Amino acid sequence: MNYMYKHSWDNTHEDLLKSSNHKTYTFSSDIYKEEPFFQKILGMYGAKPYRRKVFNREAHRGKCPACNHTCGFYLTTDRQDTYMVVCANPDCRYPNGKRSMLLHEIIMHYGSSGLIKEWRDARYTKELAYGWKGIRPENRKTKKS
Ligand SMILES: [Zn+2]
Repeated sequence: MNYMYKHSWDNTHEDLLKSSNHKTYTFSSDIYKEEPFFQKILGMYGAKPYRRKVFNREAHRGKCPACNHTCGFYLTTDRQDTYMVVCANPDCRYPNGKRSMLLHEIIMHYGSSGLIKEWRDARYTKELAYGWKGIRPENRKTKKS
């Protein structure tokens, strides 16, 4: 259940605190959670670090999931909250009709059923976190003074 421990060499005390408290769930732990999936996708498409930056960000180049040419660039999104793939082939279109697609879309369209399940399980915590924040004020516990 606790994905953080898979990377315990890299965990700070603060990370562990965050992982145990949904209310302090943050952006940094979000991309951190998605990173192992990104690594799997890089492996699936033989993506290797690219010598140049793409959109000013570090990128990997590998096979494109849609056109299979080695012109798929894998990198973080502009907001750095998840990962994406962009294809340099002008004739290439992804299932979403664009020339880029988010990690979520890559997994849902091209991932194995096992990977899709892992992805859903990993993101369940995230949904819980949003659900928790959505509790109406009148239903919140009041602070003990
Ligand atoms: Zn392509």
